[in-house]
Amino acid sequence: MQKEKQVIVDGLTFVPYLTREQIAEQVERVATEIAKDYEGKAPIFLCVLTGAFVFASDLMRATGLNDSKISFIRYKSYEGTSSTGTVKQIIGLTDDIEGRDVIIIEDIVDTGLTACRMIEDLKKKNPSSVKFATLLYKPVSSQTGFTPDYVAFTIPPKFIIGYGLDLDGKARNMPDIYVIKED
Ligand code: 5GP
Repeated sequence: MQKEKQVIVDGLTFVPYLTREQIAEQVERVATEIAKDYEGKAPIFLCVLTGAFVFASDLMRATGLNDSKISFIRYKSYEGTSSTGTVKQIIGLTDDIEGRDVIIIEDIVDTGLTACRMIEDLKKKNPSSVKFATLLYKPVSSQTGFTPDYVAFTIPPKFIIGYGLDLDGKARNMPDIYVIKED
């Protein structure tokens, strides 16, 4: 790995992991799958703030589902580079999803706790269906056995930043994805 490509955020060193081209290719693949599954339908995309905002923007546009809508919710479980084990809802859902097809858009599934909590909360609002799309999936860290319906990349249980994903609020603007350096 070239030294100059490393980035340092809050004193931690990260190395390149996925390029913007690789990301775009997988976003396009997932969008094509969703477009096929929801042909003639008007799903509500539910973007999980804050990390999924970049992925949600690219994914929603790439589906070409022009009758779809987008809404936002916010949960928090991470502090620094690890999960706290408790999931807090910070911003709730304002739209009515009763009888609607909902597609949750998340940046990353790690323990699966946030995903399970969200789906449980949403099902109380009687949607017609709930599916889950994630940019990154760490199956090894899953404590819940939760499996997303749409996955752009399956990755090992390492800490990632960039393309919307942060380290204590920083690095979300980076167009490529970086992984924490382990010596
Ligand atoms: P889970 O509830 O599945 O453990 O975690 C989901 C949330 O934890 C994600 O939405 C994200 O905010 C955060 N998270 C999990 N793994 C990572 C990671 O590798 N990098 C970053 N930046 N956030 C992560």
